[in-house]
Amino acid sequence: MFRKTRLYTPGPTPLLPAAQFAMAAADIHHRTAEFRALYTKVLGQLKEFVGTKNDVLLLACSGTGAMEASVSNLTSPGDRVLVLSAGKFGERWVALAKAFGCQVDLLTAPYGETFDLEQVKAALKPDTKAVYVQATETSTATRHDVQAIAETLKAANSEALLIVDAITGLGTTHFDVDAWGVDVLIGGSQKAVMVPPGLAYLSVSDRAWAAMETSKNPRYYFDLRKERKSAKLGESAYTPSVALIAGLGAALDYIAGQAGGNLAEGRIALIENAQNCAAMTRAGLVALGFTLFAPTAPAAAATAVSVPEGLDSGAVVKELKARFGAVIANGQGEMKGKIFRIAHLGFFDYMDTIALLGALELIARDTLKLPVQFGQGVAAAQEVFAQKK
Ligand SMILES: *Cc1c(COP(=O)(O)O)cnc(C)c1O
Repeated sequence: MFRKTRLYTPGPTPLLPAAQFAMAAADIHHRTAEFRALYTKVLGQLKEFVGTKNDVLLLACSGTGAMEASVSNLTSPGDRVLVLSAGKFGERWVALAKAFGCQVDLLTAPYGETFDLEQVKAALKPDTKAVYVQATETSTATRHDVQAIAETLKAANSEALLIVDAITGLGTTHFDVDAWGVDVLIGGSQKAVMVPPGLAYLSVSDRAWAAMETSKNPRYYFDLRKERKSAKLGESAYTPSVALIAGLGAALDYIAGQAGGNLAEGRIALIENAQNCAAMTRAGLVALGFTLFAPTAPAAAATAVSVPEGLDSGAVVKELKARFGAVIANGQGEMKGKIFRIAHLGFFDYMDTIALLGALELIARDTLKLPVQFGQGVAAAQEVFAQKK
């Protein structure tokens, strides 16, 4: 049989055809009225997509570039920062903050779990300059409660800036950036917005702009004040990823199109879509006898699944690709071989979800030798779907 390649990875995710066409047609120079119109339109759409009155900036880099920018622009060497870490991306915050000379207080949760808010409160010090956290820790497919963390900061009268890596949180979970007081919220192109890797975007609050006036860490390419100045004129400071920006505009049009042209409503539809695909997948996998890796705070962005003791999750990854052309993700770092991860963020639907569960039934039976009856996982997912209004 044919095997169509299909990505089920939490970045890059499947591309939206309309975005691909827009990218192919984006043969324009970046210092022209044509580009300025495109850039201004997309920056406006991003504000609506993020759901904020704050400035939203675009950077030509993968998501980590915006993470770096939110350390280099907001801190000075010796500043005390708090990192909430429960996986590989939390550990990236630690490494970044240390690279820029910050004094890092670290609060961890075990992989597959989220933070205890009492511990967050206790970890906040009077001189904590900034708190860095993920909205969803993609390496473990765990959701952190950004609203509750923001409220904890407020209740403690903390002056710390709140910086959220929402690279897989955007489009899979609700945020109220302005009401909660999120100072920086970061997204990436290769996640829920259905375009290739290479663009990062971030919202920046007034408090964060003010902090930049006194922060001393070095920055050049990722100088957010320079980007803001250019963005006001409809341009970027350096040569932008013109094609990706055109693709992103088309993808945001598509998201708005899910709700009659209203992007804020379309974002809700995108979130619900991911949540529904995730709920179907979790039910299907549990019915097949798998154990969810993050049962207490599962992300809608992706689902992480443990394989039984003594088995290798890499075999599932390999066989799904070899037999069905479906690309899923292994665990990262020490979780490699122990878990596999299936994405739901962006351009996934009912058909994608059911088909993957069908394929996983075959892999569970033939590769992992689990006592699987065909239809078991699919039936559980069907029940979840049927109960949706
Ligand atoms: C994908 C991802 C990133 C960004 O990684 P890049 O490889 O730099 O795009 C950061 N944080 C999370 C939670 C992610 O899922």
